[in-house]
Amino acid sequence: MWLYDFEGKRHLDAISSWWVNLFGHCNPVINTAITDQLEKLEHVILAGCTHEPVVELSERLARLSKLGHAFYASDGASAVEIALKMSFHYWKNMGKPEKKHFVSLENGYHGETLGALSVTDVAIFSDTYSPLISKGLRIDTPDWRHAEQGESPCDFALRCAEKLENLLEIHHPNIAALILEPLVQGAAGMGMYHPAYLAKARQLCDRYGVHLIADEIAVGFGRTGTLFACEQGSILPDFLCLSKGITGGYLPLSAVLCRQAIFEAFYDDSLSRAFLHSHSYTGNALACRAALAVLDIFESDDVIAKNREKANLMNEKAKVLAAHPKIEHFRNTGMIWAFDVADASPDFSGRFHLAALEKGLLLRPIGNTVYFMPPYVIGEDEMDFLVQGTLELL
Ligand SMILES: *Cc1c(COP(=O)(O)O)cnc(C)c1O
Repeated sequence: MWLYDFEGKRHLDAISSWWVNLFGHCNPVINTAITDQLEKLEHVILAGCTHEPVVELSERLARLSKLGHAFYASDGASAVEIALKMSFHYWKNMGKPEKKHFVSLENGYHGETLGALSVTDVAIFSDTYSPLISKGLRIDTPDWRHAEQGESPCDFALRCAEKLENLLEIHHPNIAALILEPLVQGAAGMGMYHPAYLAKARQLCDRYGVHLIADEIAVGFGRTGTLFACEQGSILPDFLCLSKGITGGYLPLSAVLCRQAIFEAFYDDSLSRAFLHSHSYTGNALACRAALAVLDIFESDDVIAKNREKANLMNEKAKVLAAHPKIEHFRNTGMIWAFDVADASPDFSGRFHLAALEKGLLLRPIGNTVYFMPPYVIGEDEMDFLVQGTLELL
């Protein structure tokens, strides 16, 4: 998990290069898989043609997610565009074209193309383009930092779900889908919430005939302690968006997985019922092969179980941070740690980032939130280095 600069000084990549890296830089298993694939096929048009890595990846993702169909793009924002388009188009094919609005969570982040911005609630990314964006409906975030004093994260999540219910009750005839980041709102500053919200949201979506789009672009592939975050709410979404960690941080790839019933609504001789979203590099063979190597590592190294032990160890070590007088809301979900720094100055995040580099740490706070999202190869010495360095920085 080390990066080396011009002078040969090393830096611990404690944010997994914007949350994409899972098994370190220059991982030998992924390197070998890609070079091996390079000798066979780099890419082929995925219309009327197919190839082994994309078939194998689709089958393996289907088994793991219980969602049997995959549509591939190259980045997270495009995966979100695809899920939004497919949800709307599904309802249109079902004779309900008026279901065309989307509900998303306050402080949610789903990428920065125009469609994705319509469900993204981060002002610095969307305000400038607001004349171009048809903004959807927003509901309160279950992020437990907003709970009342003494209210448990679970009670708060359920209270927020009541607000979702009120909104769906009124607007459901015009709503195609609810989109959310399961368990952790990354760009909001690692806002974490109780899985009871997911279970409740699934129930409500079923009751009111609204799709549930799980944007697991950041939280998928083990980040929250299970392979997919939705597992912790025991729910199956209608659409699952994956990217970032899917190739271990090697190559751009994203996937939208969906339920059988959604696939069937498009399976028709008429072109107008078909889902047209042409993407030149869809199902790129090198990227799919990297993704297969990532799944191999999950299996051969029992990564989910090992991460649980690592997270416990890290929580022990991070107790000094949690107890620090400047720190509020110390929190952890799986392999994500975050805390807010009290009374931080407006230029805190930039200053902290630069000071961290001096100490050999690559960290990029979001506002006054410092977070760790390390590659899963982090070892005990690196945990010590990270915690000690952060303490000194504070
Ligand atoms: C990063 C991210 C995206 C966008 O992915 P890009 O590949 O950067 O377009 C969408 N949703 C979530 C939750 C993300 O964290």
